[in-house]
Amino acid sequence: MREKLARFMAGRYGGNDLLNKTLMITIFVLIILQIILPFGAILDLVLSLLVWGMLILYTFRIFSRNTSKRVAENYAYWTWAQKVKRSFTGRREMFKQRKDYRFFRCPGCKNMLRIPRGKGKVKVHCRQCGHSFDAKT
Ligand SMILES: [Zn+2]
Repeated sequence: MREKLARFMAGRYGGNDLLNKTLMITIFVLIILQIILPFGAILDLVLSLLVWGMLILYTFRIFSRNTSKRVAENYAYWTWAQKVKRSFTGRREMFKQRKDYRFFRCPGCKNMLRIPRGKGKVKVHCRQCGHSFDAKT
């Protein structure tokens, strides 16, 4: 039996990666939310479809033979998750420093800039792209 399973799984992805772990956790959370919260019929249906879709994706990734594509998928997810995480920590930092600094994006490169408050009108020079502009602090 074990041998049969091993032969069946040979060349298949297995799905033991970050993306599948996240899928599993999300599925669990959604099911628990559905049990404890009184969602309306429509939202309930949408959540059920979402759970089923994720379950299918989860299972498909385990048995998939296209290993390189699954690895690429996982990597893309990982990159995205890192970006989201960085953006969250960035926002938290901005919130903590909001009394002392003003934050805004550089009109040239969209880089986030920080200027001490209470200095009146100042000329800002972006270190990343060299763009200069006036800003109120
Ligand atoms: Zn810039």
